[in-house]
Amino acid sequence: MTVAETTVFETLESNVRGYCRAWPTVFDTARGCWLTDENGKEYLDFFAGAGSLNYGHNNPVLKQALIDYLVGDGITHGLDMSTVAKRRLLETIRDVLLIPRGMDYKVQFPGPTGANAVEAALKLARKITGRTAVLNFTNAFHGMTLGALSVTGNAAKRAGAGVPLIHATPMPYDGYLEGVDDFSWMRRTLDDSSSGIDKPAAVIVETVQGEGGVNVARAEWLRALADMCAARGILLIVDDVQMGCGRTGPFFSFEVAGIQPDIITLSKSIGGYGLPMALVLMKPELDQWTPGEHNGTFRGNNAAFITGEVALREYWTGAGMEAATLAKGEHIRKHLTAMTETFSGTSTRGRGMVHGLVFDDASQAAKVSSIAFELGLLVETSGSNDEVVKLLPPLVATEDELTHGLGLLTRAVEIVRDAH
Ligand code: PMP
Repeated sequence: MTVAETTVFETLESNVRGYCRAWPTVFDTARGCWLTDENGKEYLDFFAGAGSLNYGHNNPVLKQALIDYLVGDGITHGLDMSTVAKRRLLETIRDVLLIPRGMDYKVQFPGPTGANAVEAALKLARKITGRTAVLNFTNAFHGMTLGALSVTGNAAKRAGAGVPLIHATPMPYDGYLEGVDDFSWMRRTLDDSSSGIDKPAAVIVETVQGEGGVNVARAEWLRALADMCAARGILLIVDDVQMGCGRTGPFFSFEVAGIQPDIITLSKSIGGYGLPMALVLMKPELDQWTPGEHNGTFRGNNAAFITGEVALREYWTGAGMEAATLAKGEHIRKHLTAMTETFSGTSTRGRGMVHGLVFDDASQAAKVSSIAFELGLLVETSGSNDEVVKLLPPLVATEDELTHGLGLLTRAVEIVRDAH
């Protein structure tokens, strides 16, 4: 094996770097579900840019649209000026996403990251209600900026804030307190004026907690949450940054519950090509921003508007993408279920094309991820103790690619088990 030349990363790049430690090679090119390193070794990508590459690397249709746009000197950086690219994107969001789903929302372009969309959503909810408190959930992940961190569970990430993270109270996520009615604590504290929990502006929730360990909320739990918020005048924010854009099957992950959140955050695959973009959708009456109240230099990544728009038109006109994702997800689920029958101390959970292989002995998950890398498969770990190997393949992966990757994963688990 050729040892990768990594000196400049180790000597010049900050200690904060993360993924490069788990995957110690130097990647060079990528296409579809495959990455190639500078020595020509290929890796099947079941990580997909943490969910930013649902349509695969360098998707040819999106790439051509991008090339044509760049060659034509289309606007690249546009702040929030009106541009042809933005008009096309907004019209497509309206025609492909909102109207067919009976959804009436306004669209905000915050800074181009998930965390920025979350910050905007929290600020807006506080402004509208005049309240400061927010309820979040155990094991939640919403980003690394202070507001987003305040509603994030992970202790190590929270510790990085350097200031007290306040104004958020975590509630038990679906299934957190095994065998106990999930909402008994939340309902009781909300309805007791002496509970010590201030009436919240909003509740922020992920329908499937990606970073938190692929914890899946049931549709009836999400419906009960939406009803509880509506009955008490609390805004419901669904953070669909990782689970939106079709990851769980339907374009929006909450569609399975038949709910319409007050505010929705999107990022990651909304730009289509892995280019940075984020959106906040809010019900029209909630659009109470004053001009420029939440601004930012990079809200106008027009190249991402182009690839995002083409991705919506190409993949989300009609129901084909949803059906294909659910079918592929079932293929993954069956394989993982069979693995849990073979390997004791494992279990699986997921929805659509996000799945976790959970290890009772948390240390095994990192070992499996590391062996998988050596075998040519990229999978990351998640969960409170990094006990979950998370599978997030591009939605465009073929059944053959999925089978191949699942075979490599099985091999990695065998190797770790045999070494035990
Ligand atoms: N919300 C959720 C649900 C996420 O999974 C993430 C990223 N993993 C974020 C917010 C933050 O997104 P970003 O890293 O782009 O700031």
